[in-house]
Amino acid sequence: MTKTINVWYKEGLKFKCTECGLCCTKEPGYVWLTDEDINTLSEGLELSRKEFLQKYTRKVFNRYSLLEDNKTYDCIFLKNKRCTVYKHRPKQCVTFPWWKNNLESKKAWKEAKKRCEGIDREDGKLYTQEEIDAKLID
Ligand code: SF4
Ligand code: SF4
Repeated sequence: MTKTINVWYKEGLKFKCTECGLCCTKEPGYVWLTDEDINTLSEGLELSRKEFLQKYTRKVFNRYSLLEDNKTYDCIFLKNKRCTVYKHRPKQCVTFPWWKNNLESKKAWKEAKKRCEGIDREDGKLYTQEEIDAKLID
């Protein structure tokens, strides 16, 4: 079933990731990992699940999140402003900016835009409402 939560973006929205890396740093946050993310990253890094979890994650509220630098808030996988696990990156990263909290209102989208230069770019791909709704995650 289509997960339509609002129609303010019924004309679609433009987005193109410039790979600037800003969403992977600067502010404290959580990159939550699904079970599938843990498997994919462990396999990609040729580690056991246990090794991967010990080396790269922290447990918060009974869920796993990637480690980040205490001072810069860089994600542990961000090196020279690039994601070093891009092919295996977690669902939360793949689906940005199509998160429900970013799409709940035009204001929320504008707020997200302050932190992401890919949002509303003129040269961005125009995503239709249907495409956006199909991508939306919590
Ligand atoms: S901040 Fe936006 S443009 Fe920059 S890497 Fe993240 S998603 Fe891409
Ligand atoms: S896994 Fe990659 S894309 Fe996701 S926050 Fe870390 S560096 Fe950024």
